[in-house]
Amino acid sequence: EAKRMGRNQAVVFDAALRNIAITNKKVADELLVALERDQFQVFYQPQISAHTLEIEGAEALVRWRHPERGMLAPGHFIATAETTGSIARIDAVVLKKAAAQHRAWCEMGIAVPHVSVNISAQRLVDPGLLESIREIAPIPGSLCLELLESISFDEQGTSLETSVAQIKALGVDVEIDDFGTGYASILSLLALEPKRLKIDRQLVFPITTGQSQRRLVASIVEIGQALGIEVIAEGVETLEHARILRDLGVDAFQGFFFAPPLDNEAFQRFARARRWVEQFDLSADPPEA
Ligand code: C2E
Ligand code: MG
Ligand code: MG
Ligand code: MG
Repeated sequence: EAKRMGRNQAVVFDAALRNIAITNKKVADELLVALERDQFQVFYQPQISAHTLEIEGAEALVRWRHPERGMLAPGHFIATAETTGSIARIDAVVLKKAAAQHRAWCEMGIAVPHVSVNISAQRLVDPGLLESIREIAPIPGSLCLELLESISFDEQGTSLETSVAQIKALGVDVEIDDFGTGYASILSLLALEPKRLKIDRQLVFPITTGQSQRRLVASIVEIGQALGIEVIAEGVETLEHARILRDLGVDAFQGFFFAPPLDNEAFQRFARARRWVEQFDLSADPPEA
């Protein structure tokens, strides 16, 4: 009986796997069409300086304007794009669009010191990346590449270090994304000397719940300060988060409390209205611990 059930389960399992494979193949083909038809759009999430409360940057986050399924977040397609090899092309499109948008904001007088673009491991070692950056010819400090946690810093070893050094030589900054939950080791901070590190939102979210959670973030801030690396927190969802983070010495905030990722027009409205300055009243007392 057990044996028969086992076999039946195997059949069900096989069918499920085959369905996943078929779905992936379908998405993979659609991604290529999407590239051809220019269906990728870039949203921007503001990064606010904890010191000045000015916008210090914007993170570019890709969206897929799917003809039937509507606007899709990266969770629906990045993993497939990574396994099927179209991620490097998608990242290239995002980089180009984000750099052009940033330039346009500057020309309109919307002050956004830098734009940050996520970059997958495959794209990082792609020689085309340096070529794209040379074409963009960014003003030093105006472009930042966020290295994703899917990049195994330790495995790639020196080739990663070489790529990062070449990128930095072109005046582009590097940031470690999702710090504290991904593969990025503390040692990689010494090897890569990033300009920024971004504390993952899984570490940020619980800071309202206890001392240990806050001390952990304080220690990361200390590491950053010791090495001269700016520290930004992602997933800042409430005023309480922002205040605690400011008191812990974080340099910048990014999260729903300030704004979700916005399309270009909404981003411009956000930057002009400056509503967050009143919402985040610096003079108010921090909440009781
Ligand atoms: P990430 O780089 O860590 O980006 C932050 C993600 O957190 C974004 O999700 C953003 O919408 C979300 N987020 C922002 N503020 C908050 C908050 O306060 N609370 C919560 N719960 N979430 C917040 P999104 O846009 O769905 O992107 C997911 C991931 O997809 C990104 O994580 C990044 O790893 C990847 N990704 C996005 N765009 C690109 C791209 O152009 N290329 C590559 N290779 N990966 C990308
Ligand atoms: Mg990121
Ligand atoms: Mg992140
Ligand atoms: Mg993340």
